[in-house]
Amino acid sequence: MIRFEDVSKRYPDGTVAVDGLSFEVRRGELVTLVGPSGCGKTTTMMMVNRLTEPTSGRVLVDGEDVMAVDPVQLRRRIGYVIQQVGLFPHRTVLDNTATVPTLAGWKRGRARARAKELLELVGLDPAEFAGRYPAQLSGGQRQRVGVARALAADPPVLLMDEPFGAVDPVVRERLQNEFTAIQRSLGTTVLLVTHDIEEAVRLGDRIAVYGRGRIEQYDTPAAVLGHP
Ligand code: ADP
Ligand code: ADP
Repeated sequence: MIRFEDVSKRYPDGTVAVDGLSFEVRRGELVTLVGPSGCGKTTTMMMVNRLTEPTSGRVLVDGEDVMAVDPVQLRRRIGYVIQQVGLFPHRTVLDNTATVPTLAGWKRGRARARAKELLELVGLDPAEFAGRYPAQLSGGQRQRVGVARALAADPPVLLMDEPFGAVDPVVRERLQNEFTAIQRSLGTTVLLVTHDIEEAVRLGDRIAVYGRGRIEQYDTPAAVLGHP
């Protein structure tokens, strides 16, 4: 579903963030990218939705070179969740969640109905939360809205950059478990960046272990932990 073919990225200041990367993520798979800060994980992810572009090599999504797809179209097909999700402060939880399907051209009624389904899925009862504003939510609840919004237009691919990094450890574990259940049921292909090896192992079907600009190991959690 996502394929990197000998991809390198050099930023204009000369920093080589990613160096000759080749790997593949199968449809419906959740792959975690793990490694220390500055080793190229976020750069890898941003080349999938063209927030940044490769210097050489190719990134394919569903068989198509991302450089051949209009970036706006591409981002409508690829969900994105970051550590501190930016919700629109003056829009309700429901309107925030319906934003992405609305931008994707869904009719208002269908977008709102789907948004309610997703809020339910992420554990926010629409009867209680749909009319709230972001300032009336806890940190964990805001991340839930971010996940609901990213999934509301049924993207085949979801990119997540430290999505649970800012919530406290107890809430984090609950969110992780709930999220993987949703991801399985929707069959979404996911790339998830984390610096936390425990999270990478808990969530990943496969784990890409990064060194500087390269993947040093790409395997199942059991193999990465050394229990083949
Ligand atoms: P990670 O996500 O693993 O922390 P990044 O992909 O953010 O790593 O960064 C990889 C390397 O590229 C780092 O050395 C970082 O400083 C550098 N880098 C990231 N973004 C830019 C940029 N816009 N311009 C120049 N260098 C950058
Ligand atoms: P979490 O464990 O999810 O981070 P918190 O301890 O931050 O939750 O919040 C506990 C409860 O208080 C939540 O149900 C949340 O909806 C509610 N809450 C938090 N902040 C506000 C606020 N500013 N206004 C109204 N309700 C709030």
